[in-house]
Amino acid sequence: MELRLEGTHYPLRTLGPGKRLGIWFQGCSLACPGCMSRHTWDPGAGTTATVREVLALWRRALADGADGLTVSGGEPLQQTAALRRLLAAAARLRDATRRRVGSAGSRPADLLVYTGYEPGELTPARRAALAGADAVITGRFRVAEPTRLAWRGSANQRIVPLTPLGALRYAPHLDGEQTGGRLQTACGEDGGLRLYGVPLRGELAELERQLKQSGVALTERSWRP
Ligand code: SF4
Repeated sequence: MELRLEGTHYPLRTLGPGKRLGIWFQGCSLACPGCMSRHTWDPGAGTTATVREVLALWRRALADGADGLTVSGGEPLQQTAALRRLLAAAARLRDATRRRVGSAGSRPADLLVYTGYEPGELTPARRAALAGADAVITGRFRVAEPTRLAWRGSANQRIVPLTPLGALRYAPHLDGEQTGGRLQTACGEDGGLRLYGVPLRGELAELERQLKQSGVALTERSWRP
């Protein structure tokens, strides 16, 4: 089965606890005003990858001691069949890896999904797609509700644990502020600057200003129409 992806990154440190594999789905029709990832909206853009190819990345991340997998976008729940297949297989691979190498002293890796849908919009098909996830972060990005809550872009967004592991890993963060940096930078395969994370209000404008002072002008910004 194929997924349409915007990209992947490892190690990701700003969307969930610890060192994670990040997978961004391509395509989102929710069009939140102020979205910083407008490049993920077009469902025909990005690239395709098979679930098997993404699992190979997950296998390598687990071997490296990853703390988790974060699926974001775009809107992952606009590819429900692929998401369901991916999460179920990723959970099986995590469990099999722990059985094979022994779990003594190690923390299980968790599976976290971001969705712009509100809990009341989670239809049976969307809930089924999340069956393998340990936690989900729900809700539209609302530019008028800035927040310092961990891993969230606006104050309305909620972390919802779905499994005992999700409760264990995320309960301390439900109402907590994020510690450490909220934005991670990297160089993309196309040579462009990539930003991973959820910025505070004004942080992107400040980054632009600092880059400009250093002689770096951004030609395209995913947070501008
Ligand atoms: S913030 Fe998320 S849900 Fe909202 S438009 Fe952007 S990608 Fe879609």
